[in-house]
Amino acid sequence: MSGWRPETLAVHLGLEPDPATGALVPPLHLATTFERAADGGYPRGYVYARESNPTRHAFEVAMATLEGGRAAAAFASGSAAAAAVLRAVPGGGHAIVPDDMYHGLRTLLTRVLVPAGLRVTAVDMTDLAAVRAAVRPDTRLLWVETPSNPLLKVTDIASVVAVAREAEAAHGAPVWVAVDATWTPPPWQPAFGHGVDLVVHATTKYLSGHSDVLGGVVVAAPAAREGDADAWTRVRDVHRLEGGVAGPFDAWLALRGLRTLAVRLAVQADNAATLAAFLVAHPAVAEVRYPGLPGHPNHEVAARQMRSFGAMLSFRLRGGEAAARAVAGRVRLFTRATSLGGVESLIEHRASVEPPGGTTPTDLLRVSVGIEHVDDLLDDLERALAPEAVA
Ligand SMILES: *Cc1c(COP(=O)(O)O)cnc(C)c1O
Repeated sequence: MSGWRPETLAVHLGLEPDPATGALVPPLHLATTFERAADGGYPRGYVYARESNPTRHAFEVAMATLEGGRAAAAFASGSAAAAAVLRAVPGGGHAIVPDDMYHGLRTLLTRVLVPAGLRVTAVDMTDLAAVRAAVRPDTRLLWVETPSNPLLKVTDIASVVAVAREAEAAHGAPVWVAVDATWTPPPWQPAFGHGVDLVVHATTKYLSGHSDVLGGVVVAAPAAREGDADAWTRVRDVHRLEGGVAGPFDAWLALRGLRTLAVRLAVQADNAATLAAFLVAHPAVAEVRYPGLPGHPNHEVAARQMRSFGAMLSFRLRGGEAAARAVAGRVRLFTRATSLGGVESLIEHRASVEPPGGTTPTDLLRVSVGIEHVDDLLDDLERALAPEAVA
């Protein structure tokens, strides 16, 4: 498989015909326990399903290969995957996180991890001076989410890695960099090329792609670092010892999702670029946040760092919160729902789904663009926006 492009790999990873039956599709292994040999050994490598399971393992190998990492761990949700990384930070350690962060993870920090002893500073990660200023002698993790949710801020990953390595040199302790790449599935933003330690995905979103699987994955960097500098060992311990692992059927569905990943992503990104161009020119729209627009504040970083500008965007209405809620109320093809990355287009008044006290503007609608015909999506938005343009 070496030398194959990501589009080809996604179709074929984990798809060797089953040696027992010749079945083209991998079997769904539900077994929790595996037979030992007469000498007590484990000739096939499997012992117990929390440790590893053939179906989960096939998905983990596929994800490691697609991201260009050396191993992966599949979790029961994206939040469980992210939590495993945050909880792997050694006791008393400090983490720097983005100020515009997936709200579920922010709530996990404030409700669970900070009370349990993790120290956290939230900064605007697109401002490198702010990231550098937030570094302390006890800093152990820089958490990157780019493009961010829901403001689509784009963080320069390579520069954040440089800050981490400077901090390691200055304070003599490891500083890991983890990227929440949920919005940039492979091949949209190969983060390991910038030297990050871990890549995290909610497989719930693009990787599964059909809004019917909850899951997450952590992928380890291609090369291990020395001792405590190697984040993977600790993450893998949280995975197998706490057991927040992906169940076999969810892993099987996620693996199936990969087969169509490349074609889904290509159509979704094309559709998103078309919708962004339409919205930016619309009189009812005050601002469009999409990294592919030349007017986006981090467009240059995005153009350098991303192979595609993705399929998420958000926009703000001139008519304020009432207009935003009215537009969401008038769509017929878009579904009003949270989540993202599925084949169907979703629209969401974001501030009202997030807990109070966040930074999301109340006049903002977030859109996850699907694979419908783009003209149908345009017609739907045009109709939903029309009364606002007149008002
Ligand atoms: C959805 C999401 C998560 C959490 O995934 P779950 O499967 O819902 O736990 C984490 N990060 C980002 C950016 C997400 O969009």
